[in-house]
Amino acid sequence: MTAFRNFCSVNNFVFGKGSFNELGTIIEKRRVETPSFFVYLVDEVFKGKVLEQRIPLSGDDFIIWLGTQDEPKTSKVDELTQQILNDYEELPAGVIGIGGGIMMDYAKAISLTLTNPGPSETYQGLDLIKNKGVWSACIPTIAGTGAEVSMTAVLSGPEKKLGIKCDYTVANQIILDPELCEGVPAPQRFYTGMDSYIHAVEALTGHCRNTFGDAYGEKSLEMCQDVFLNYENIYHPEADEKLMVASYLGGLSLTYSQVGVCHALSYGLAHVLGTHHGIANCICFNHLEDFYGEYVGEFHKMLELHNIELPQGITKDLPREKLTEMANVAYALDHMWLHALGDDWQQKIDIEMLEALFARL
Ligand code: NAD
Ligand code: ZN
Repeated sequence: MTAFRNFCSVNNFVFGKGSFNELGTIIEKRRVETPSFFVYLVDEVFKGKVLEQRIPLSGDDFIIWLGTQDEPKTSKVDELTQQILNDYEELPAGVIGIGGGIMMDYAKAISLTLTNPGPSETYQGLDLIKNKGVWSACIPTIAGTGAEVSMTAVLSGPEKKLGIKCDYTVANQIILDPELCEGVPAPQRFYTGMDSYIHAVEALTGHCRNTFGDAYGEKSLEMCQDVFLNYENIYHPEADEKLMVASYLGGLSLTYSQVGVCHALSYGLAHVLGTHHGIANCICFNHLEDFYGEYVGEFHKMLELHNIELPQGITKDLPREKLTEMANVAYALDHMWLHALGDDWQQKIDIEMLEALFARL
């Protein structure tokens, strides 16, 4: 008998240019229900910018400014959680992430670790969280990861890069305001946008698919193709709007499907070299013709159209044991391989083949 999963989704969302202005009203309503303070986790790129002035602080609300040099680490999640618990007698009414995937994942993770004791690394995996978190909101300022809508908060721990994945991880509220993406620099706009393209390609080309996930994946793919093939200049309000919706749909396509080979490799690169997600995906996807055929050709066209030169030979001077370490991290992501290659994936890929793939990057 098929086992059905009872999926959870974001409770409320607002979409549209200028919709960030709704945040004040949204949180004041929450504050009536839970009379406490709000914690904002905000990308420090916005410090001193107009957006800072637009954050509706009141009472004991406060902002934690965070850099994006590193992707979210379990140790940082634990440190910030402890800081909030030590400084206040009560739990916050909500945790709000404003930024890219990094800020949104911090917000989602900390909302959970505030109510689930112990180091966050013990929750990396599926359904390991016991208690519902505090109310959380995600407000993307760059489009592509789908983190705003996904049921995972991706963290790098001492041993692995893996999400805290469960129903409770899903944000309660999202605000999708394409105007917030205006300042995203090149080529980051391309790299993060490509995350969405690759999510859709991987979701649509594997084994764990169904009509529900495909519908989201197909529309997301079409919108990414439109943005990256039809807009010579992706600094365009229409492109921001489309990419923000594509990101959301791509995230949803993964609820019912999975990512695949590119993400497994990209997690290996991130774990060993600290390569950030968007660019790591691009570096890997560039070499995956054997798995994603014509889509890799299309990706090469997009690179050309947007004058993106990807770093080459990033693994060429690495000692063999580093390649093995990457291969082990990638190989352990069995759910991705199962989706990409099928039930007999272990007959199709092994550590040596993965080392060879990493050596090509
Ligand atoms: P990011 O958070 O890494 O930010 C990328 C860069 O863009 C940073 O330098 C940031 O300061 C800058 N930036 C963001 N918005 C800006 C703006 N409006 N103006 C100027 N600069 C801006 O970006 P990302 O690619 O969205 O996120 C990557 C992270 O997301 C990784 O940690 C990855 O693991 C995670 N991720 C999570 C999921 C999920 O489902 N939870 C899915 C995919 C990726
Ligand atoms: Zn991704």
